[in-house]
Amino acid sequence: VRIAVLGETAAGEPRVAATPETVKKFAGLGATLAVEAGAGAGAAIADADYAAAGATIGDRASVLKDADILLGVQGPDPASLAGAKPGAWLVAGLNPFGERARVDAYAAAGIEALAMEFMPRITRAQSMDILSSQSNLAGYKAVVDAASIYGRAFPMMMTAAGTVSAARAFIMGVGVAGLQAIATARRLGAQVSATDVRSATKEQIQSLGAKPIFVENVSGIEGEGSGGYATEMSEEYKKAQADLVSSHLAKQDIVITTALIPGRPAPRLISDAQIATMRPGSVIVDLAVEQGGNVEGAVAGEIVEKHGVKIVGFRNVPGRLASDASALFARNLYNFLSAFWDKEKGGPVLPDEDEITQAIRLTKDGKVVNQRLLG
Ligand code: NAD
Repeated sequence: VRIAVLGETAAGEPRVAATPETVKKFAGLGATLAVEAGAGAGAAIADADYAAAGATIGDRASVLKDADILLGVQGPDPASLAGAKPGAWLVAGLNPFGERARVDAYAAAGIEALAMEFMPRITRAQSMDILSSQSNLAGYKAVVDAASIYGRAFPMMMTAAGTVSAARAFIMGVGVAGLQAIATARRLGAQVSATDVRSATKEQIQSLGAKPIFVENVSGIEGEGSGGYATEMSEEYKKAQADLVSSHLAKQDIVITTALIPGRPAPRLISDAQIATMRPGSVIVDLAVEQGGNVEGAVAGEIVEKHGVKIVGFRNVPGRLASDASALFARNLYNFLSAFWDKEKGGPVLPDEDEITQAIRLTKDGKVVNQRLLG
């Protein structure tokens, strides 16, 4: 098969969907690779590095020509795929709910769109999961960003001039990003606490040496739905959580919010009134800002100051670590495609009845076929 690596055209997207390492591995499986010129620039990978790994380099039209598989980080503008072979696979993070019109356009163009963020949360697919690999880096970077913006130190320091007290960091939402945020804040020497609606996270928080902050004595709050994802909570639970969090928040210096509910806007976790109770100089990083935000007043792409508290809303946080993010993303794509490699056919084959196929395939033969999109 012929695999095309697309240059990213979305604003503020420095990542790339293949690295020289994965190019070499695909070539080892017998694939031919074509990389769009400049595709790796944002991740510090030169065209010459891809060429040395065995790829040809060309413009969009030349890499698309005869390609069987198109690799991207984000879904490309369908118009930019003119000239792609009907039946070609598009393998990328396609934001299917947010970019529904694009999904329809991919179908109309005969592209088979495979949305990597719909990868099921099963053991076999862990190494293919872009949400996990990118969230992990985002959780780390959120804490490092907070530390650089915060006007004080994280660790307790005893100096000849006196003692600097440790920062108190509170992580809200303990999925993949939150766990890494806890670990990172601990490494930097903060006093760390964390909360989530899934009670299973309590032990994970403790095992990382942080303090769990949990609503007790409210019934029916398991909070865990299909695939280990969070569900929307009852009004009673939301009220109890807000009260508990309010008193805790007022004592925090650093807050990292990561709460998401798939297919819905991010839950609101912090109100403006709660921010007003925090110490001036505190920093809140809202990792859910692009999904609607966990924090009232957070603005995507900006650092906003309210009541003396800085609310950080950086976009594309994994992209702020573009080299590592690309390396992991590229391996997720390789792990996926190589797992389905058919040696005789010389390329990947997705069985219709496979759980992974059913979860990630958005379009086939000119139609939208994904159950989550068809509703
Ligand atoms: P996510 O990105 O969907 O959400 C982040 C966290 O926010 C979750 O822990 C969620 O419970 C929490 N949250 C949602 N609403 C909240 C609220 N109102 N208040 C506080 N917290 C709230 O989560 P994720 O990182 O995708 O992880 C979810 C689970 O899936 C974890 O248990 C993770 O280990 C698991 N997982 C499994 C696989 C696999 O098996 N292949 C891969 C990735 C993740």
